[in-house]
Amino acid sequence: MSSTKYVYLFGSHGTEGAAGMKNLLGGKGANLAEMCRLGIPVPPGFTISTEACTAYTTLGRERLLEMIRDEVLAGIRSVEAEMGKRFGDAADPLLLSVRSGARASMPGMMDTILNLGLNDEAVEGLARKAGNERFAWDSYRRFVQMYGDVVMGLKPVSKEEHDPFEVVIDMVKEARGVQLDTELDAADLKELVARFKALIRARIGRDFPVDPWEQLWGAIVAVFDSWNNDRARVYRELNDIPESWGTAVNVQAMVFGNLGDHSATGVAFTRDAGTGEDLFNGEFLVNAQGEDVVAGIRTPQQVSLVGSRRWAELALVPEAERAEKYPSLEELMPDLYRQLIEAETTLENHFRDMQDLEFTIQEGRLWMLQTRNGKRTGAAMVRIAMEMLEQGMIDEKTALERIAPDRLNDLLHPVFDPRALAQARPIARGLPASPGAATGQIVFFADEAEAWSQRGRDVILVRQETSPEDLRGMSVAKGILTARGGMTSHAAVVARGMGKCCVSGCGAVHVDLKARTMTVDGTVYAEGEWISLNGSTGEVYFGRIATRDAELSGDFGKLMALTDKYRTLEIRTNADTPEEAAVARKFGATGIGLCRTEHMFFEGDRIVAVRQMILAEDEAGRRKALAKLLPMQRSDFEGLFREMDGLPVTIRLLDPPLHEFVPHDDAGQLAMARDMGVSLGRIKMRVEELHEFNPMLGHRGCRLGISFPEITEMQARAIFEAALNAKSRGTAVVPEIMVPLVGTIRELDQQAAVIRRVAEQVFAERGETVHWMLGTMIETPRAALVADSIARSAEFFSFGTNDLTQMTMGFSRDDAGSFLPRYLKLGLYEHDPFRSIDQKGVGQLVEMAVAKGRATRPDIELGVCGEHGGDPASIGFFHRAGLRYVSCSPFRVPIARLAAAQAAIAS
Ligand code: ADP
Ligand code: MG
Ligand code: MG
Repeated sequence: MSSTKYVYLFGSHGTEGAAGMKNLLGGKGANLAEMCRLGIPVPPGFTISTEACTAYTTLGRERLLEMIRDEVLAGIRSVEAEMGKRFGDAADPLLLSVRSGARASMPGMMDTILNLGLNDEAVEGLARKAGNERFAWDSYRRFVQMYGDVVMGLKPVSKEEHDPFEVVIDMVKEARGVQLDTELDAADLKELVARFKALIRARIGRDFPVDPWEQLWGAIVAVFDSWNNDRARVYRELNDIPESWGTAVNVQAMVFGNLGDHSATGVAFTRDAGTGEDLFNGEFLVNAQGEDVVAGIRTPQQVSLVGSRRWAELALVPEAERAEKYPSLEELMPDLYRQLIEAETTLENHFRDMQDLEFTIQEGRLWMLQTRNGKRTGAAMVRIAMEMLEQGMIDEKTALERIAPDRLNDLLHPVFDPRALAQARPIARGLPASPGAATGQIVFFADEAEAWSQRGRDVILVRQETSPEDLRGMSVAKGILTARGGMTSHAAVVARGMGKCCVSGCGAVHVDLKARTMTVDGTVYAEGEWISLNGSTGEVYFGRIATRDAELSGDFGKLMALTDKYRTLEIRTNADTPEEAAVARKFGATGIGLCRTEHMFFEGDRIVAVRQMILAEDEAGRRKALAKLLPMQRSDFEGLFREMDGLPVTIRLLDPPLHEFVPHDDAGQLAMARDMGVSLGRIKMRVEELHEFNPMLGHRGCRLGISFPEITEMQARAIFEAALNAKSRGTAVVPEIMVPLVGTIRELDQQAAVIRRVAEQVFAERGETVHWMLGTMIETPRAALVADSIARSAEFFSFGTNDLTQMTMGFSRDDAGSFLPRYLKLGLYEHDPFRSIDQKGVGQLVEMAVAKGRATRPDIELGVCGEHGGDPASIGFFHRAGLRYVSCSPFRVPIARLAAAQAAIAS
């Protein structure tokens, strides 16, 4: 006999578990025990621990049953004593539920069996004892159905069948000419039981077990088995739940919500899980059992009167009809409603978090069946945390820790008005590429999107896919819909950067540019018709749906203020335009950590001058083109400096390989040839020369400035002149000029010399100076290795973690799509290293460069400007690594502020 204890009792006769024992008892079991300790009415039972599940996995069924038999027997005796009934007593049977419950809540992922202990004899006893034949057969019918599915394994034989038991139910309903399950009488239910059993015998080749003990052991093992069913596995994978945790099994006396009109079952939330409003709410059904409420067979009623009235308004049910057909629990059973309020208040005060509750009312008596911290939307997360803080239920650190930074995404973008959405008609679904809600008129061309929006119209840009030429059209559109492209397509990436709603890869959409129509499922939608997009779900709707702007004041504002109290990391933004900078400042960015100057080169007519510069055959030709770019670039910087109003602005010199700018199509090349007065052949030759095998490892970064110092000169001049202009208008700026892709101090020094010379020239011309800083990206592994030497010239380092990652890992972000998903699936990498920094590998280079940089220059300024700067887990790492700031896209600034505060609290 082993001495390990596997079974823990709960009930009013003594409770062995507690809320703190989730690892051993699972969330459900631990909280059932805790409710008993709080004196809340819970049907008695016991929990078989997760250790038994682990033992079962290694030792198998027989050994498990040997190990737990005596304890389970004792547990059943205890439940019998409390309930005054005996398990297996055919005259007055004690019935049980067998429920799974892992450490982390996995709602609906594993299986539950209700009414265990029934057989052909006991059902008669139950009917007599309850004086309700229909109830007894309904319970039996449910038991055979659940047991047949979960324990005996009767599954659908075809996709069409869906649920073999439901097929039988439908047949009987049809034969009786009724619509609802509730309209079936005892005789019908009896027939169902017989048919179910016959179906099981025919398909499984075994009889339904009549012995309650055999039923019980089978159910316990089945719950342990359900830990490894497909649904549970997928859920674990998605939520990072280790397989080794195992599930616990809860065996509990049944209480019955299906005993007639004074019985009911329901689920409730102590606060609104959608909005966070401090309002008790939930749904219930009279004369129902188990998961009828969520199954959607009948329309559930609201627990509170307020909730019921709100529901009726949305569902367009007149008050008189509501009160008669769908009264609230508050109206129907006021006394029980009061008891329920008492229980929910006790539980929320005890757990100090919003609770998700399950309850059953048996003939006027309330029983609580479950409580757990409720899942909620991002908006609710914020509101609940901030209100509980104000109500004195939690402290500031707890409030900050309660909010998952990524969930702030839900709040930062417009949402559909729920009333309007209730009437909307979805027509297709694509990928949720960039969150938010948008409504507008269909336009198929980027330039027309601009023209329409100038005339004050709201447009949705619909494209097969987007390209850099569409940028301006995208930026004025309310939303973007593409037929092709994934989550990292051009449209998706750009839209996320702009914080604009985007649905990508919507295969059902067929765009006909000639006809200016799109076709979805055979229906044609013309230019100018209204559609609406939900970029958070990927849904596309026909028609105009009112949207509501993001709410950035109120609780969100309070939360942001609180993050500033705790965080030590500064949050800057990656912004290339004054518009982006303005958005980022609204979200609380305190500087620009990365301005990508090349993004300015795509705007409007500039691309022509850029192409002239690149395609020029000599320095003189390049200088001529650069002279045209200078004033444009200068005014860009002026705009940025004005918007940032004295805050630091880090500007990266030209970085991408030049071929990205040149036209690759005949028409574009011909236009350039005409424009520059050279032959098409020459242009083609130059484009050909620019071709590279591995452009990301090619002629880019500081290599461009070293090959063509006149480019660096122009950019430096634009920066200094803009800074002086800003200064003369009273906005002191400290431009931080950043040289990209440096691997040796000599590269940096070579470029530094050019920049210094220009500074001296400009300052001499203007008779005035500005303070500026010279720094570099640390984005090649070599730069990290020799960071001590590079710091002799660099006043700041900015970690370019995208390049650092791809060069350290040895694969490019743009090509990783072909194999990375499989790597992640096989667990070769824990996560996508381009999304969340590889702390063990790439992270070492960051830490090394930090230490080496500081050794040479103790006050060196250190920051991150890669996409990782907006990833909460990476931010935690950067905080520990001792960086001064992270820089991220404007819409991630609030997320970064919260993640930085959490990192500070955790350290
Ligand atoms: P899940 O984890 O999927 O929510 P549960 O174990 O909570 O599964 O069971 C689902 C439903 O079954 C519960 O919401 C409740 O309505 C019903 N149920 C479970 N145990 C009992 C019981 N002892 N008495 C009455 N109903 C029960
Ligand atoms: Mg369930
Ligand atoms: Mg449950």
